Amino acid sequence: MKTQNRSRWKQSTQLAHSPEVELPEGNLPIVPPIYQSAKFSLTSDVPIPDQYLYTRISNPSLHQLELSLSEILNKEESIVFGSGIAAITGTLLSLLKQGDHIIFFREVYRPSRIFIRETLPRFGIDHSMLKLCEADQLEKHIVQGKTKIIYFESPTNPHLQIADIKRITEIARKHGIITLFDGTFAGIHQHTQCDLDLIVHSLTKYANGHGDVVAGSVSGRKDLIKKIRQMSQTLGSVLDPHAAFLISRGLKTYLLRYERQCQTALTLAQFLKTHPQVKKVYYPGLSDHPQHRLALEQMSDMGGILAFEIDPACGTAMEFCYRMKLFQFTASVGSTESLICPSLQFFGDDLEASHREEMGLTAWSLRISVGLEDAGDLIQDLSSGFEEVGRG
Ligand SMILES: *Cc1c(COP(=O)(O)O)cnc(C)c1O
Repeated sequence: MKTQNRSRWKQSTQLAHSPEVELPEGNLPIVPPIYQSAKFSLTSDVPIPDQYLYTRISNPSLHQLELSLSEILNKEESIVFGSGIAAITGTLLSLLKQGDHIIFFREVYRPSRIFIRETLPRFGIDHSMLKLCEADQLEKHIVQGKTKIIYFESPTNPHLQIADIKRITEIARKHGIITLFDGTFAGIHQHTQCDLDLIVHSLTKYANGHGDVVAGSVSGRKDLIKKIRQMSQTLGSVLDPHAAFLISRGLKTYLLRYERQCQTALTLAQFLKTHPQVKKVYYPGLSDHPQHRLALEQMSDMGGILAFEIDPACGTAMEFCYRMKLFQFTASVGSTESLICPSLQFFGDDLEASHREEMGLTAWSLRISVGLEDAGDLIQDLSSGFEEVGRG
């Protein structure tokens, strides 16, 4: 800022320009400040393209978070967005054009599925929706010269299927197709050695971890992130600096939270597994999960999300959710509070009945996201849900 003679100013001018507070050299805050400013004043000392100008284009708080994510995810560059779904749709709009084709799996995040099936065709972008269990037939669905992206998730929502990432990326590499991987469920510390071109995360979930911010990110090859950044500036899907600050704060405890949530999830999965009123439990950390071996090869931690199916005698999944006291009945994952929701209504309503059936989405299917509460208290809450029905 230029030297100012504030005492000469009228009150309205003084109020419009906050006093400058300079820190003695080297006397720095331990927690970086929030650059809660839409604009930055320019200096003649530095070329304009190297300066911050407008927060929709760039902002130091956002840049700092992007640097953290690139480091953890082991990628060249990152860009943050105002939500996870904005990161996904922005990436697809940046990298696809009329006449292109995308391959994805039906197990991906519901709003992404709807975007690819309902919005992209309006722009002449075609797709093939495969089942994750058909991933070995991936090559058959590649349209030479047209398939530009393979988009997938692991573990999937809500039944925690594991994608064979090595297999999929090898096929994509062979055909020069970009891989876009949503790693939200596994968290930001896993899959960092995989040969994925782009990794997207809903930072709303584990990265922030406190359930008070909505945000997303994409990390990967520099050339791709550059294209995505240009599109993001045009779409205006920018994250607020204060939200970026909260996520950077959340990251400090990320590994501790994730570790505890995995431990508790395994405890709950084991409890549910032996419960007489539970018909099925889905958790990749259980040795009878169909892809337990693959999960162990790809992941160090099995995650804080599990799913299960209750006996119809207990009432519907929806009724079970309303009965919970500690578990909050809501969408989303990765909070400090444990969350529960009925899977069919929350994740399957856009799918054809045959798909829902094959995916095991029934009126008795539930998904849990484990929080930071005591495992015994959570088990008690689940138990009382079953007991109440027992009492009729
Ligand atoms: C929540 C979620 C998203 C979308 O993120 P928002 O921040 O809610 O927009 C995308 N993918 C997965 C796997 C998610 O769980």
